[in-house]
Amino acid sequence: MKKALGIDVGGTKISYAIIDEKGDYVSKIKKVSTPKTLEALQETFKTIIQENEKDVDYIGFATAGAINLENTKVESSSPNLPDGYNTTEFTTFSKKPIYVENDANAAAWAEYKVGAAKGYDNNIMVTLGTGIGGGVIINGQMLRGKSGRAGEIGHIKIYPDKRRMCGCGNYDCWEAYGSGTGLGRSFKEEALKNPRSVATQGKKIDDLTTYDLIDGFKRNDELCVKVMDNWHNQIIMGMVSLNNIFDTEIFVISGGMGEFINCKTIEDELNKQTIVSPAKVVLATTGNNAGMLGSALLAIDKFKK
Ligand SMILES: [Zn+2]
Repeated sequence: MKKALGIDVGGTKISYAIIDEKGDYVSKIKKVSTPKTLEALQETFKTIIQENEKDVDYIGFATAGAINLENTKVESSSPNLPDGYNTTEFTTFSKKPIYVENDANAAAWAEYKVGAAKGYDNNIMVTLGTGIGGGVIINGQMLRGKSGRAGEIGHIKIYPDKRRMCGCGNYDCWEAYGSGTGLGRSFKEEALKNPRSVATQGKKIDDLTTYDLIDGFKRNDELCVKVMDNWHNQIIMGMVSLNNIFDTEIFVISGGMGEFINCKTIEDELNKQTIVSPAKVVLATTGNNAGMLGSALLAIDKFKK
């Protein structure tokens, strides 16, 4: 059975493990802090690879940033990684084949091969965190587009009238409303309109957090229920568009905000509004290590003869 070293490069830590083609862990998961300089980061990659390459057939990287079509380099800058990261020549670190993929796409691949989307050749991962990321898999292939950058589902537009700026610098992207950050902004906007609401519990509007919202929602507070319902509707807006375009079989929801959504409500409403065939909506199952797992599985799927 083929094995790969999966390496997930995050802004604060690098996680790695050896994984076989069934998605089982052959080694323990190890973690190191992400170095702050480019030289130290590249040295860390070399050290990790030197320690493990004799035990694997291939090496996979999951990393932030846009990846070139050949899956060998990062082409964009990444705010959480050192300047010049996009000059890194990953394939020079080993004689074993190396495959580089965007971390959201790698996580989607992990869900497809061994997680909640297993068996569904058409699936879309939606990562609800501080932003919205994801990956689109069509007929068993990762959608990569003409430049390798396809699948930026968080930046589809959901309003035309410049209501709210997104982190990307444009207005009214799905992420500006459907992400955890977007939900927090919606809560503050609504609380500002209703300063006497018990939801604010005497706090200053600026000090309100998503936790206050969730607390209020659990207490059935009217304002909090309204904000949460509206958030679900905004999430559904994006998913209806995605389903109408891709006619997917299943949406897999990952990310820290996933635990606050009601998949059944979203699935029912999505399927009322879609004009193509219905899709399932479920939570992801591969957890925090999805990127690492997916990078190893992608390397195996790519290079295995
Ligand atoms: Zn945007």
